[in-house]
Amino acid sequence: MKLLCFEATDDEIAYCTKALSGVDVVYFDEKLQDRPKPDAEAEIISVFVGSTVTKESLKLFPKLKYIVTRSTGYDHIDLKGCAARNVRVCNVPSYGEHTVAEFTMGLLLSLSRKLYDGIDRLKETGSFSYEGLQGFDLRDRTLGVVGTGRIGRHVVRMAKGFSMNVIAYDPFPSADLAKDEGFTYVTLDELLKQSDIVTLHVPYMKETHHLMNAKRFAKMKTGALLINVSRGGLVDTDALLAVLKNETLGGAALDVLEEEGAIKDEFTFLRDGHPASAVLKTVLENHELMRLPNVLITPHMAFNTREGVERIIKTTSENIQAIVKGKPQNLVSK
Ligand code: NAD
Repeated sequence: MKLLCFEATDDEIAYCTKALSGVDVVYFDEKLQDRPKPDAEAEIISVFVGSTVTKESLKLFPKLKYIVTRSTGYDHIDLKGCAARNVRVCNVPSYGEHTVAEFTMGLLLSLSRKLYDGIDRLKETGSFSYEGLQGFDLRDRTLGVVGTGRIGRHVVRMAKGFSMNVIAYDPFPSADLAKDEGFTYVTLDELLKQSDIVTLHVPYMKETHHLMNAKRFAKMKTGALLINVSRGGLVDTDALLAVLKNETLGGAALDVLEEEGAIKDEFTFLRDGHPASAVLKTVLENHELMRLPNVLITPHMAFNTREGVERIIKTTSENIQAIVKGKPQNLVSK
C-alpha cells in the first residue's frame, strides 16, 4: 500500500521508518495544500492539523481509501466529501488529555499572574518593577468549563487542585463525573454569568461555530477572562476583538485562532491571491488581537510535549498497521 505523509517531522519519519516496514511511505514536510501534486497510487494519506483536506484535494488521489490524521480534531477534513468518495478517516482519539489540560492551566496562570508581562519586561528592560504586574488568586474564583469530555474533565480536576470553584456546561453531562470531581453542571448562560474565567473544551463543528459570539460575550461578567485551546472557529473573532477593546472582557489566552492556517502561512496566503474578504478581515483582526496587552496568543502548541507527540506517532502508526491488516481502527467515519 502506498502512503503519503504530509507535514512529517524528523521524529515521525524515524519512528514510522521502523514501525511501518512493509508500507511504501513517501514523506513531505509540506502541508497537503502546499504540495498539490496528483498521485495515482496513494491509498492512504496522513496529515496533521495544518493540512486542509477538501473535495478538490481528494481528486488528486483516485485510489485513496484512508486518511489518517495525527490529531484528535478532524475539522480540517471534509468528512462529507470523504464519505462521497468512500474514503474513511482515522484519528488519534486520545494521546494526552492531561497534556492539553496542563497547557490550559499554564495559560490560566499566565493570565492570572501576568507571567508573560513580567518576564518580557525583565528580559527587555532589566526592570524589577512591580508596576502593572499585580495578579489575582485562583483560589475561590469560579472557572466555567465548557465541554467536560476528555480534556475538559482534566481541567476540572486540575482547577480543583487550585481550590477553584468549578462549574461546567456540556449538552451530555455526566452526573457521576460531577459527583466524583465535585463540580456542578449549569446552563451555558448561567456558566457565562457566574464564571471569572471561561475555558472552552469543545470540538469545532457546525453546531459549535462561533459558540462564543457577541450575545454570549454580553452575558459574561465584566472583566472575566476567556481561554480557548480547542479550535479558533469556536469564537467569533470580530465579537472577541470588540469586547477586549472596550474592556468588558478582561483578557484572553488563545492557543488557536480563527483562520489560523492563513495567518501561519501568510506567504502562501498572499501568493495564492484573492482571499475571501471574510478571511482577510479575520486575519487582520488576528494581528490586532496579538497586539492587545490583555491577550496572550500561542501557536497551537497545547499538544506539544515530548510524551504527547510520542503517543500521537505511536497511535498513528498503529492506525496505519491496522489498515494494512484490513482491520481499521479509530475511525471517525464508518
Ligand atoms: P471530547 O470529544 O472528549 O470532548 C468534547 C466534549 O464537548 C464532549 O463532552 C461533548 O459532549 C462536549 N460538547 C459537544 N458540543 C458541545 C457544546 N455545544 N457545548 C458544550 N460542550 C459540547 O474532546 P476532547 O478530547 O476533550 O478535545 C476537545 C477539543 O480540543 C478537540 O476537539 C480539539 O479540537 C481540541 N484540541 C486542541 C489541541 C491543541 O493542541 N490546542 C489538542 C487536542 C485537542
